[in-house]
Order: sequence, then structure tokens, then C-alpha cells
Amino acid sequence: MMRPMKAVILAVGSELLGVDRLDTNSLKLTRVLERYGVELVGKAVAGDDEAEIAAEIGRRLGQGLLVLVTGGLGPTADDCTRAAAARALGRGLTIDEAQVERMRAMFASFGRKMPEVNRRQAELIDGAELLHNPAGTAPGQLVEVPSGGALFLFPGVPRELEALIGLHLEPWLEKKLGKEGGIERGVIKVACLPESVLEERIAPAYDRFGRADISVLASPSEIRIQFFARGTAAERAARLQEMTSCLTELAGSAVFTDREETTLESAVVEALIAAGATLSTAESCTGGGIATRITSVAGSSAAFAGGAVTYSNEMKTLMVGVPPQLFAEVGAVSREVASAMAEGARQRFGTTYGIAVSGIAGPGGGSPEKPVGTVHLALAGPGDGDLAHRQVRFPGDRERIRRMTEQLALEMLRRSLLGLPLPGEAK
Ligand code: AMP
Ligand code: MG
Repeated sequence: MMRPMKAVILAVGSELLGVDRLDTNSLKLTRVLERYGVELVGKAVAGDDEAEIAAEIGRRLGQGLLVLVTGGLGPTADDCTRAAAARALGRGLTIDEAQVERMRAMFASFGRKMPEVNRRQAELIDGAELLHNPAGTAPGQLVEVPSGGALFLFPGVPRELEALIGLHLEPWLEKKLGKEGGIERGVIKVACLPESVLEERIAPAYDRFGRADISVLASPSEIRIQFFARGTAAERAARLQEMTSCLTELAGSAVFTDREETTLESAVVEALIAAGATLSTAESCTGGGIATRITSVAGSSAAFAGGAVTYSNEMKTLMVGVPPQLFAEVGAVSREVASAMAEGARQRFGTTYGIAVSGIAGPGGGSPEKPVGTVHLALAGPGDGDLAHRQVRFPGDRERIRRMTEQLALEMLRRSLLGLPLPGEAK
């Protein structure tokens, strides 16, 4: 194997060449390669076509590379990665009867009989090592080519790929390369802060750690700051720790997490549970989007009671008790109506907090006084009056306005719960 080690990834699946599926498995593999300091020199996507797959594998192994293939290990006739790899290597395929028995046992544990087509999944390239797959029937395979290069075949199902990465790829890389020399990534996530303001705040970190090692990725009302560290495992851990605390400090109260798996909604649920508080929602222009995001968090039932989608004026009155005269006096998109919705939800649903949004997501329905993108958000809590209210005017299309409204509602709640300055206020 060439040193320093270089790798390519080949994603197999005709669906990945179409208009509605993207290869994401390679991102998971790339992260692992980074960690071990393996340089990724190419990525390719191939359909379920034996000749194409064989040509790509053969060419890349010929260059002495580590070749990581995902997909095409299923039981059906279109799954031809095994045959293609065998052809590229000039080797045969033999059914591994012990593997067939393991697959039969796996089916039996679900109370099913293994269909005979599944036997194909036990075809092993001659001389290959079988990589057990605890998450599915398709085992992976590893062939180390004597003249240089190595080939891994992984299943395409993301959950199964992840299992095989942890069980087989990482230990193999560690054995070949040790733990040192790679890159480790850190992240902090920021809500409802303009990118330019964030950029100004974190500028000192660029001087301290180098601009090239920090990148800022923005999406509507949420920004990821990614950074990475090199060196030995201990050096990387220390530097990531230092970068995380420095960037968190600089970016201020808009930082809601430094964990990859945490989302704004999961941070809100965590804060609600920590406060021993409960929440209900009354949503107009987001149509239940806030409730959807909160209930996507496992365990949210400990804090979220439920919500109302009150799209029409009648439903705002019927479900959360908005006084009907308000619609004539100030209109549905107003501070008064949003506040009445929040307080109405809180009281009728018996929760500590109520959050409500009413706005114009467009593209129609705007007026000179209330143009498209105008949204009122209100948070009601224990005590009299609003805990918080925001009137905003979001730019962009319907999708973006709805997304930004959800973000701001969640972030207003998070900051209130944690006693932090609300969005738009000081740091
Ligand atoms: P396969 O192992 O080729 O039968 O793939 C099984 C399923 O895994 C496919 O139907 C896709 O949903 C998914 N899949 C396969 N390859 C990829 C990939 N490169 N990225 C993300 N998902 C994939
Ligand atoms: Mg496939």
C-alpha cells in the first residue's frame, strides 16, 4: 500500500445517477479517512452496471489506492458489485456456506424463511476477508492486493455502512496507520444571528488559530462554524477544546450547541426539561412546523403538550380564544393577535409556556403596511403580559420565511428559558 495512504470512494447504485437521490455514504467515509490522515483523491458514482464498476475498481487498484465501494451488495439481479469486483481482480466468486447459515439464522430470528435469492449475498471473492454485518444480511468484503492497493466492499444502506465502518474500516486503518496524523473536526451551531455580525465577533479566532482551519456555513437563521485540528490524538483533542471554548465565548449567547447531534429543537427540549417547564404552540404561517420540529426530538413528550394550527381567524378564536374584534381592529398579523394566541394556548392547554406565530409567508397576501415576510412572534409564560414579542420582516420565498419563523420562535424560547438576551439584543 502506497504511503502516505491515498483513497478513492465509489458509490454504486443506479438511483444515485437519477434526479432524486444523492450519494451521502461517501461523506461518512470521508470523515473517517480524514481522521486517519488518508488523502481522498477521487470520488465516483456508478450505476448498477458490472462493466462500469469493474473498470473503475480495476483502474483505481492499479494505482495502488485504497478503494472504498458502497452499494450493490443486495440480493437482486441488479446488485452486481461482488461480480464486478471479482472481475476487476481476475478472481472467482464462491458461496460461503457458513455465511448462508448465518443469514438463515438471521431470517429465522424474525420468524421468516430466507428466500433463496439471498444466497447471492454470501458470494465471497476468492481470497477476500468476509466482514460481518450485524445490521443486515449483506456482509462486506476486504481484499488486500499483494502488488499494492486494497479494496473494501460495503453495503449501501447507510445504517449498515456505519456499522461496518466502526467494526472493520476503523480498526483496519488504525492497524495500518496508527491513531496519529489525521484531522478531527469540531462544530458550534449558532441561531438567529446575522452572518456579518458573527463574522465580526469571531474575527479574533482567525488570528489565533488561522483562517484556513475555521469555516462558516450559513443556512436560513442558522450558522455552523466548523473547525479542525491536526496532530496526535492528544494534540487534536486539546486544540479542539481550545477552539470550541474560544469560538463559543466570542460568538456569545446565540451559540446553542457544540455537539454535532444537537439541533435547535433538541436544545429547546433540553432547556424545557431542565427548567421543569411545559410548552404548547399556536401556529399560523408555519402550519405546525414548530410542533413538528419539537416532536421530532425523542423524549419531547416530557415537555411538549401539543399545539394548534390556527390558520383562519375563526380557528384562532375557536381553538385559542383570540377575541374576534382584534381581527377588525389590528388584523391577524399583529402583536395583539400573536400575544393572544400565545396566552390562549398556554391557558387552554395548561402549559408553562405558550408560543405563537402569525405572519405572511407569501407569495400573495402582502400589503404596503404588512409586506410579505412580516411575522409577529409571541411567547407567553408565567406572570402577566408577553414574555417576549418580535415583529420581523424576513426576506426570501415562502419556504425560507417559514423556516426563519420556526428558527426565531425556537430561539426566543431557548434564550428565555436560559435567561439569555433575546435575539437582536446585546450579546
Ligand atoms: P444497496 O446496498 O445498493 O442495495 O443500497 C440499499 C439502499 O441504500 C439504497 O436503496 C439507498 O436507499 C441506500 N444507498 C445506497 N447507496 C447510497 C449512497 N451512496 N448514499 C446514500 N444512500 C445510499
Ligand atoms: Mg443498490
